[in-house]
Amino acid sequence: MPQLADKIRRGERLTRADAVALYREAPTALLGRLADEVRARLHPDRIVTYIIDRNVNYTNVCVARCSFCAFYRPVGAADGYVLGFEEIAAKIAETIELGGGQLLLQGGHNPDLPLEWYADLFREIKARFPGFRLHALSPPEVIHLSRLSRLGVPEVIERMVAAGLDSIPGGGAEILVDRVRRLLNCYSKASADEWIDVMRHAHRAGLRTTATMMYGSVETPEERVEHLLRLRDLQDETGGFTAFITWSYQPEHTELGGAEATGVEYLRTLALARLVLDNFDNLQASWVTQGGKVGQLSLAYGANDMGSVMIEENVVRAAGASYCMDEVEIVRNIENAGFVARRRNMHYETLGDPVFRERDVPRLLALATARAEGDDSRAPELERYAARSAAEKARRGQ
Ligand code: SF4
Repeated sequence: MPQLADKIRRGERLTRADAVALYREAPTALLGRLADEVRARLHPDRIVTYIIDRNVNYTNVCVARCSFCAFYRPVGAADGYVLGFEEIAAKIAETIELGGGQLLLQGGHNPDLPLEWYADLFREIKARFPGFRLHALSPPEVIHLSRLSRLGVPEVIERMVAAGLDSIPGGGAEILVDRVRRLLNCYSKASADEWIDVMRHAHRAGLRTTATMMYGSVETPEERVEHLLRLRDLQDETGGFTAFITWSYQPEHTELGGAEATGVEYLRTLALARLVLDNFDNLQASWVTQGGKVGQLSLAYGANDMGSVMIEENVVRAAGASYCMDEVEIVRNIENAGFVARRRNMHYETLGDPVFRERDVPRLLALATARAEGDDSRAPELERYAARSAAEKARRGQ
């Protein structure tokens, strides 16, 4: 262990064997100290950033059926929904009111939403809210659209960028090892190579993206390391990743079931990521899965960003976690840990001091949901596009 600690302190790159040894054997306090040293080297100004945005899930209807997912509903389910353009616009207006400037927009693989639906939505958002940013469509959604439209991934990305896409979130990575993906029933939505390839095309198209890892389901420590190395390799090649975010698998209400990883396992995984991903500038804390207290501790284990104020969240909540932190609470946690809090944009450029210190903003005591309970209204735009699923055709009497 002392040789590995020296290697990290000299700024040398860790090998696969180094990373596995650290993860399996290093005491948690040592892992944290080393990750904190790397964080301090990269961010000596003690600034910890966060973004004000909103996680909007435009539909929960999904054909992928990942076994770890508690959010999706099958095609034709009574509680499946698609948000209308007006509903999404109202969410954006509320986000702007709270000082936010972007949506994290992701959803299920809904066969009745063609590429044109996305293009029309993005264009309408950009026309109504110029300057507002869209961090949207994780790689599996891009692949789904590519299959649905029979266009190549680069062309789907090009069309989405032309309509208003600004960057791609790193969702759907889970663990980038096909053995794991098969066990999680998410190999068909995107293999490890396919996920990497979407990000490669996005970076080549000039988009910046994030990278993620969902650990704690069926993978081994070696497979977690493999995941990190795949990300590090692509970052060497393109330099297109802005940040890395890891969170633990949330088991409640999922087909896969099981138990959630502990807080110590989260901190060890985060610290290991900070040590392996030597070409990533930013690591986010995942307070939305770990809660505010472990989220705050993340700042001593390699994270330099507190993620998002979020405003709305549906996916993690469906699996049993419902933490809420508004801007006041995020800033309180950052400052209490001895850091300086700064707002940022999707490119990790700092924008300034907390909004609540500049003007009155309403406190957020619970995260919003996609829709109010019992609201099963139908998005009016759906009629503009041809139905593809048997359920939707039957609903339209076709
Ligand atoms: S994780 Fe995404 S792709 Fe998989 S079932 Fe859930 S919504 Fe669908």
